[in-house]
Amino acid sequence: MCIQNKKNALLRSCTVMGVGSSSHSESHWDSLQQEVERARTKGLDGSDLEDMGSARDEVCRLRRLLDEIGHAALLTRANQSKAPPRTLQRQFSSVIKTTSTNVMMTSSDSESVSAATLRIIHINDVYELENLSRFATLVKESSVGFEHVIVTLSGDFLGPSVLSALDGGKGMVDVLNAVGVTHVCFGNHENDVPYKAQLKRVNQFKGKWINSNMRGFDVDLPTHDVIEVKSRDGAHMRRVGLLGLMLHSPTIHRRGAFGGAVPSMTPVNETAQRMARELVESGAVDAVVPLTHQDMADDVILSKSGKGCNFPVILGAHDHDLMIKSPEHDSGCLVVKVGSDAYKTAIIDVTWATNETPASEYTVEMSMLDVCDYTKDMEVESVSFNALRPVRELKEAVMLRTSQMRPSLSSIQGRTKQTTMGTLLTSALRDAMRADVCLLNAGGIRGNATYEHEFTYFDLKNEIAFTTYMVVVAMTGREVASAVKESRSKLPMADGGFLQLDGRCEVAGDDTPEKMQELIVVAGSSLELEREYLVATDYLLLTGLNNNPTLKKYGDEHPEIMENKDACSLSKPTLVQYFAKNLIRAMGGLEEIDLDHDGIVTEEEVEEALKRLYADKDGDGKISVEEAMTAPTSVPNLVVNAVMDVVEDMTVKAERREVLVLPKV
Ligand SMILES: [Zn+2]
Repeated sequence: MCIQNKKNALLRSCTVMGVGSSSHSESHWDSLQQEVERARTKGLDGSDLEDMGSARDEVCRLRRLLDEIGHAALLTRANQSKAPPRTLQRQFSSVIKTTSTNVMMTSSDSESVSAATLRIIHINDVYELENLSRFATLVKESSVGFEHVIVTLSGDFLGPSVLSALDGGKGMVDVLNAVGVTHVCFGNHENDVPYKAQLKRVNQFKGKWINSNMRGFDVDLPTHDVIEVKSRDGAHMRRVGLLGLMLHSPTIHRRGAFGGAVPSMTPVNETAQRMARELVESGAVDAVVPLTHQDMADDVILSKSGKGCNFPVILGAHDHDLMIKSPEHDSGCLVVKVGSDAYKTAIIDVTWATNETPASEYTVEMSMLDVCDYTKDMEVESVSFNALRPVRELKEAVMLRTSQMRPSLSSIQGRTKQTTMGTLLTSALRDAMRADVCLLNAGGIRGNATYEHEFTYFDLKNEIAFTTYMVVVAMTGREVASAVKESRSKLPMADGGFLQLDGRCEVAGDDTPEKMQELIVVAGSSLELEREYLVATDYLLLTGLNNNPTLKKYGDEHPEIMENKDACSLSKPTLVQYFAKNLIRAMGGLEEIDLDHDGIVTEEEVEEALKRLYADKDGDGKISVEEAMTAPTSVPNLVVNAVMDVVEDMTVKAERREVLVLPKV
């Protein structure tokens, strides 16, 4: 079997036995594990960045040490079962033999036909599709020989990502369905997509979407699921209950989140304990596995719920670090979180040895696997490839060719100096909004990248990551100059409030902070202190964002502007329109686009003109043989639509959208 060759697949190689065993490697592992915890806590709590860095290095070093010890599975026994240490699963025992120096097994192959085992393959917090086709292979290979396998994802998968912002999480759920994820629960980021999209995703998902503690959600989702697990000889059957719970914190959910269902939420731990006791006491299940989306500290509390609840393992999420809490130190149950984006996965086997084994005496074994060690499942890969089409379109949607630009188009170090990206975006907004000057805070321009060849729609989304409301206000030269000075007062320290200026502004120089703070040219001519300028800027700066005293004071003194947020323009669509106008100019204007000269510009003609423009890579107005050979066969709809929107504005709208009449010259 393929898995036999995956020595590296086992991230965490350890065996923790129950009470009473005391081998050297075990105590060594214990102390290492504690050290890892300490280092991690230090990293999480430390406010000092350097401290965090060294703590992380320490965690890495310790993890490597753990690997070197060479044990292969975390074997834990719930509720201090007196059963002898159990054989590790066949698949893993082969790995153990090849990697371990000190394996604790009583026999090499005593997998009993009378044992009932549920295999759980767990991931959490998956935002990107990248690793899911490999994960699908892992699921297939790890399911071989196991009759009862569930694949769990404890929330946070509908967002945030570039794709989910475009498709509302549809592509992700398509891929999860293709992988065969069987159980999910809500995470707080499921609310990153609009409520209507949430409802669609819930219906689209083919597994069970468990909702134990937000019963006000509009779709009537199951409060729990029950899995029947049979032994190989068929004589022994167990039932495992599954719960799905999302944290309820006043700060984490936006008002109106989940269609207004948040007030109906009940606390995770209370709900889990109550439901588990009910299910266990009534005999409906032998044990309960909660899928939780909450902080580790709360999971640890839940893990100590005790015998009445029969939690073999808590399948956690929300924390993006790799976190495993072994039950050995404090008698709680195992808590597993595998980081984010399915780089790692945990395989957990919950087993009852025989028909006679009491319900609470299950054994739990866990292995951590590296998803990167598996090949891609091509079926899932193709679902994922199709799902990502809108993102590819964004990346192919060239808004501006930048190869001729000197210095290069770049947003790097925008918090300490004027960048070419800052100049480009502010100049575009200034013109689009018909202002004299444009000021944008560096913190709102976030790409931190250089664009040597082209600037795409995708890049624009990265640069202007937040929704920015732009407003045009009248300010004196004195106010503009002091706002610029104050925004750069922390130099040479970096500051998100550093104002980027449009291309018709100039400061005294760029070699000292003093010169960079001194505005001398505005709107292409010398600064006039008493003159009124029309200033385009981010509405939030006038409300106090970045603590610019002049801008804040202006906002306080002009409540009429501040109350009229609806009148603001959104920066991104404004910029897209601006770039589309530029493209039309670059294509030679409407007359050139109108190939058949019938006075009507069609979508097809726009597409053809864009193809010619994109083909002309060196921008000399001619298509060389070389350029023709690499010319694009299609152009993204996004760009065609953006251009058509502008064409529409420039022309008299005809009956059909795609047919437009040119204005009389
Ligand atoms: Zn979360």
